Amino acid sequence: MCDVLVVGGGLAGWRAAEAVVAAGCSVALVANGSGNSPDIHALNVPVGPGDSVELFIADTLKSGGGACDPALVEVLCRESVKLADEFPFDRNDDGSYKMIQPLGCSVPRCVSIDHKIGAWALAKIKRALAGKVEVVKGRVTALEAGGSQFTATVSDAQERVPPMVARAVVIATGGWCGKYAFSDNPPELRGDGIALAQSLGAAVCDLDAVQYEPTVAIAPERLRGIPVITTMLHEGATFRNRLGEEFLPDKHANKDAISRAIRAEIEAGRGIDGGVWYDATGVPREILETRYADTVRRYAACGVDITREPMVVAPAPHTSLGGVAIDAHCRVLRADGTPIPGLFAAGEVTGGVHGRNRLGGNAGTEVLVFGRIAGESAAQVREFSCT
Ligand SMILES: Cc1cc2nc3c(=O)[nH]c(=O)nc-3n(C[C@H](O)[C@H](O)[C@H](O)COP(=O)(O)OP(=O)(O)OC[C@H]3O[C@@H](n4cnc5c(N)ncnc54)[C@H](O)[C@@H]3O)c2cc1C
Repeated sequence: MCDVLVVGGGLAGWRAAEAVVAAGCSVALVANGSGNSPDIHALNVPVGPGDSVELFIADTLKSGGGACDPALVEVLCRESVKLADEFPFDRNDDGSYKMIQPLGCSVPRCVSIDHKIGAWALAKIKRALAGKVEVVKGRVTALEAGGSQFTATVSDAQERVPPMVARAVVIATGGWCGKYAFSDNPPELRGDGIALAQSLGAAVCDLDAVQYEPTVAIAPERLRGIPVITTMLHEGATFRNRLGEEFLPDKHANKDAISRAIRAEIEAGRGIDGGVWYDATGVPREILETRYADTVRRYAACGVDITREPMVVAPAPHTSLGGVAIDAHCRVLRADGTPIPGLFAAGEVTGGVHGRNRLGGNAGTEVLVFGRIAGESAAQVREFSCT
């Protein structure tokens, strides 16, 4: 029995747990893996030259193709600015932030800490919460509401887990791209949270919207499912089909356009083992060995020298964009727009923030901003029921 049960151990879940603890409530967190959050390289905060909250809102709405919930986007962008006070994002010698400009952003906006903000933030939160959160390893397979509490059924292959009872629940189970046979997500990300929320009457939106990563390794087998960075395209890398022909002359095309171009080559019978060549041999060696040292090392460990030979890649499902309907307080909504008492959700399990296309870097911002809001909202349920 605890005040708040968090389902999911990615950044949205841990961020919610952090807010619950800060509010003085008890919290248990159950997770069956670490999800995608450790892979977040960078996230958007509008603190660079020429940037503003308004520009960030405009870019996000434009990228979503008219399908974003403007109220959620407003919260995302306004609250994101506070992250700059909370996290020591990398800076240049002159004190300005080190930033990159993801596709769809009008100005450089993506900040990080040593290119690993996801892993860094997770480690920081877990360190600060050591001993304050009951962490349970397992998969929540059912969630029932009765009286003023929820009961979660948890299964774990190793040991028997008793049902968990809480006054409020935060669903933070991430997306569902792990369901696809070929994706860059771990298999435990299969949309469980959506089913759990729906079983309690939640509405969902945009379940057909999935963002593809265009360049995910197909071979060698050990690297299958690992994305290869696309920014190499701006530094001399190119795509080639089975005939050795270069395609996609526009190196600034967005990820959707690149994915479609690759898919067209494969479907026309000009693919290689279900993918295409991603050829980085045109990138100056010193750039490959410094900026892309991780990629060079990862392939070298499998006997592939990418300074001399191309990689085989194909587009793969990367982020699910739709999900559980929430309001700006992360309350889970029914189809009639009313909130389900005590039930909250945050992160990739939710829909409405990204619309039909996610701005690169917005998922990291989303999990930190909405994870905290979900935890704060869930903690208030306890206060209401106590008074
Ligand atoms: C390779 C890669 C790189 C990325 N890089 C970036 C980036 O640089 N910037 C950016 O903005 N976005 C990036 N993204 C997207 C971003 O990582 C995700 O959208 C974000 O991490 C989602 O966080 P989350 O907390 O909602 O879910 P996750 O971090 O995926 O966590 C979900 C958690 O729920 C658990 N879970 C699932 N089902 C159950 C269940 N039934 N019971 C118990 N636990 C359950 C999982 O085990 C996991 O602990 C990247 C994605 C990938 C795949």
